[in-house]
Order: sequence, then C-alpha cells, then structure tokens
Amino acid sequence: MDPELRRAVRLRARFRCEYCQLPEAHAAVAPFQIEHIVARQHGGPTVLANLALACHHDNLHKGPNLTGIDPVTRKLVRLFHPRRMKWARHFEWDGPFLRGLTPIGRATILVPQMNHEDRVELRRTLLREGVFRP
Ligand SMILES: [Zn+2]
Repeated sequence: MDPELRRAVRLRARFRCEYCQLPEAHAAVAPFQIEHIVARQHGGPTVLANLALACHHDNLHKGPNLTGIDPVTRKLVRLFHPRRMKWARHFEWDGPFLRGLTPIGRATILVPQMNHEDRVELRRTLLREGVFRP
C-alpha cells in the first residue's frame, strides 16, 4: 500500500483504532493495521473511503465480515462502517466495557470480540494509569 495513503489513514484516525478507540501507542502485542472496511475479497477498493485504522485484535477478528447478528433482536445487520457512521451513535463506554447502543453497535462488538476479557483487562489497566480516556 502506498505509504502516503497509510499515513493519511493513520492521521485521520488520530492514531486510534476506529473500532475500539485504543490509542496506537498502547498497542499491546502488534502494531495497528490499515483495514479494508469492505474486504478486498468483496471488491473493496484500496482508497481512503474504504480504509480504517484498526488494532490487531479487531482487524484479525473482524476479518472479511460485513455483517453480524444483533444479540438482542437476533437480526442480521451490517457491521459498523467507520467512514459512513458515527461511532458515538452506535457505542458507548461503561468503564472498560464497550456497550452497543444500536443493533449495528451490538453486532460489531460481538464479531471482533471487542469485550474479550483480555481487551477489557488491557483497557482497565490503561484507564487506571490514566492513559486511556474514552
Ligand atoms: Zn480496536
């Protein structure tokens, strides 16, 4: 991928994961990745409008998925699209836990396992240290 495009995506995201908002400076295991929101295998292009900065965890678990099941309504819904949707409309913080405010928010939390115990523990630590302010 073109280094200028990568740089533009990271700057636009203000160096935070566009799904879980984790600051890149606190990536625990691996560096953040430039993610295709609509995966290449679904014809998603490598252009700014289809790219997002994502932590390794969220990118790995989201994979090429475009949809998920809302655990409340049990309906199939599209996943959060960081370019077309506003984060605060679909998610909110409850301490270290991410809560879904909409079917899209709830399904998007489940598919990448954003409230996996390891992620909650990492956020709890960062909150305690005062370096993660959602
Ligand atoms: Zn993330």
